[in-house]
This record gives sequence, C-alpha cells and structure tokens, in this order.
Amino acid sequence: MIFPADRYYIERAAEQLMEDMGLWRYPIKVMDVLQWMGVPLTPYSSFEKQERGEIMQASPDAFLAMRGSQSEVFYNDGICRCTRIRFSIAHEIGHIWLGHREQTPKNERSANYFAGYLLAPHPLIIAHGLWSDVATSMWLSERCAKFAHDQAKARWAEKRPFTSHERAIVGMIREIGVLPCSAVA
Ligand SMILES: [Zn+2]
Repeated sequence: MIFPADRYYIERAAEQLMEDMGLWRYPIKVMDVLQWMGVPLTPYSSFEKQERGEIMQASPDAFLAMRGSQSEVFYNDGICRCTRIRFSIAHEIGHIWLGHREQTPKNERSANYFAGYLLAPHPLIIAHGLWSDVATSMWLSERCAKFAHDQAKARWAEKRPFTSHERAIVGMIREIGVLPCSAVA
C-alpha cells in the first residue's frame, strides 16, 4: 500500500525527471533516460556463462549496483519480451531518481509506482480513455499495464485535479498522438 502523500511525492519526482530531460513523447524510451542520467546499462550477456547464471538466479530481469554515488543498471537482454524489460529498467530508474539506498519493501513499492507513472502516467489513461488498451498504446507488459491501471483507478477515485505538467502531457498526446512502438525499441 502506498499512501496518498507518497504517491504525490513520487508523481512529482517523475514529472521533474521528464521536465529536466525535456521528455514529452510517449511511449518513453527508458534507455534514453538512463543515458541522460549518466547511468551505464550493461546486458547480462556481457558476463561469462556461470556468472550470468548466478546473476539470473538472483535477479531474473534487472538489478542496480551502486559504487559510491555512481549507479549502474544491469539487465537481462536474453528476455525477448521488451515490454517486460522496459518496466524493469524504469523500476531501477525509480530507485536511482528517488535516491533509494537500500532494498526495503517500501522502496520496492515506490519504485514500482514510479515505473508505472513514468511509463504510463495515469492522467493519460483517464483523459484519453486508454483503460483497455494501455498495454498496447504505451507498450507495456500486462503486469505493468495492471500497475498503471490500478494507479489510474486510485487517482480517479481521489478526484485530485491534474497538475500543469499532467495537463500538458494530456494535451500533447491529443495533439500529436503516441509514437509507434517500432520507434521505442
Ligand atoms: Zn527494486
């Protein structure tokens, strides 16, 4: 469970990232976000077979390593479902951007919330009626689409007004639509 104050804080953090980066097109390219943050992204295929096996056992999708203030994200490039990788990388971006220093259940929930909001901001789902096709329009896995869907439902029930950033992204999609998935891969 994420409390409303935490949700609000995470949403504003994701907004800040997009504004700092000048990122307005959806679906967003998570690898571009990491590059902009100066965070190296290393595929599991760069490891020797035995080490790769151990890593995959511990973290099947992705993990974050920190050396001092430098972060590095490792991801399983053997997974063919790119939509799943997008969520895993967005989750790690959440840990970095929110300044998490340890793995706690609350930090995991927060990183998931961040990833859902970054990949499919619920104002877009609400304003554009993307309730049933959020997975295809935002190029998400079913699991991530469920996160985004749940976030949208909670926000809808809260009746909290959209921020100016949220109004801007809703208007942007209305004007220019979403990128084709081939442009995101
Ligand atoms: Zn995590």
